[in-house]
Amino acid sequence: MTDLKKHFAVIGNPIHHSLSPQIHRTFAKETGFDIEYEAVLSPLDEFKNTIHKLIAQKLSGANVTLPFKKEAYELATTHSSHAKIAEAVNTLEFKDDQIIGHNTDGVGLVRDLEQNLNINLKSKKILLIGAGGAAEGVIYSLLEKEPSELTLTNRTIEKSHVIQNKMDVHAKSFDVNLNVIEIAKCPNQYFDLIINATSTSLNNSDLAINHKVFHKSSLAYDMTYGKETSFIREAQSQGSKTSDGLGMLVEQAAEAFFIWHHIKPKTKSLIESLRAL
Ligand code: NDP
Repeated sequence: MTDLKKHFAVIGNPIHHSLSPQIHRTFAKETGFDIEYEAVLSPLDEFKNTIHKLIAQKLSGANVTLPFKKEAYELATTHSSHAKIAEAVNTLEFKDDQIIGHNTDGVGLVRDLEQNLNINLKSKKILLIGAGGAAEGVIYSLLEKEPSELTLTNRTIEKSHVIQNKMDVHAKSFDVNLNVIEIAKCPNQYFDLIINATSTSLNNSDLAINHKVFHKSSLAYDMTYGKETSFIREAQSQGSKTSDGLGMLVEQAAEAFFIWHHIKPKTKSLIESLRAL
């Protein structure tokens, strides 16, 4: 790469489905930046080499997606506070000899909920389903909004306990009641916000969750986008409002764009046009 244009990439495996190139090119066009942004498929055992090759090609930054967010955390030499707490990185900045790791998933989710869906999270009861990278990446941002209760559940319940132990100190300082419940034993009580952060819709399996967690006044939020999921169908059958994760995807990308270019791009019209597609 010899031109003065800044180069960026999204790295994952698989990566063909990624909307990140389209999103970042649109942001760049609208804010007057001339950038290159490509999707890079990294072999599963070659993430570190892939990144070092891209740095040698003078890449300025990269987004990182499934399944490399933990490896990106290990690779980064400096971490933002959100990346440090999540122990996962979805945005890398390459500056001098530093690899700076950020996590913008939590900011993306909260912005979509608050700004696009007009949900005030303070004092709400939230159920977060899943204990993978996505769930861990958003918990701190949810706690910062001071819900009254944040309940975690996951198929492998031990993973929820690990996250609870790690996050308890933050929950206490924000005065949030942080619980863990078993997915099959969800109590007969409803939540204001139910977030599906599992990968069930990617592997086409159903989520075994008590439908009583949904209520007419609940919002059921599925981090998956681009397909109708059984989680959304179940929530709708109970009269809940629903949303997919497209807004989160665009908002987390906007935060990554801000980190790289120091300009916050507009997101609403892009979310609408991607949804129309
Ligand atoms: P991980 O692979 O790290 O975690 C997967 C999670 O799903 C685990 O908690 C796993 O449970 C659970 N799970 C998988 N299959 C089932 C099942 N059949 N029943 C119950 N639970 C199940 O994935 P990520 O956390 O990185 O991603 C999760 C989802 O979030 C993906 O669909 C991803 O596309 C989406 N996402 C969306 C974003 C957005 O911007 N909209 C951003 C980031 C992620 P267990 O621990 O028991 O295996």
